[in-house]
Amino acid sequence: MNRPCIFCDIVDGRAPAEIVHRTEHLVVFPDIRPQAPVHLLIVPAKHIRSVNDLAPEDRPILADMLLAGKQMAQRFGISASGYKLVVNVERGGGQVIFHLHLHLIGGWQR
Ligand SMILES: [Zn+2]
Repeated sequence: MNRPCIFCDIVDGRAPAEIVHRTEHLVVFPDIRPQAPVHLLIVPAKHIRSVNDLAPEDRPILADMLLAGKQMAQRFGISASGYKLVVNVERGGGQVIFHLHLHLIGGWQR
């Protein structure tokens, strides 16, 4: 575990965040620097640095992350209009917090 990790702190309730969804494997909360009208972060409870650090046993976590993306898109009303599910990997890929997360981004006027 890499400490300090802000996402581990949010998962464990040691740092504040507006949790909008929680499952056995993950939490979902808004990005503090939203890039679109809807911008949520889908964050596994397990500390995994990036996609590069995924292991075969992480498959259930990944499935949960993608399904949470679908569910949150429905709840936030952007399923029909469309959205992006983005994973940035390491610094060159734009990753800022080194705890795996999936961005759900959408809600633009088109
Ligand atoms: Zn972490």
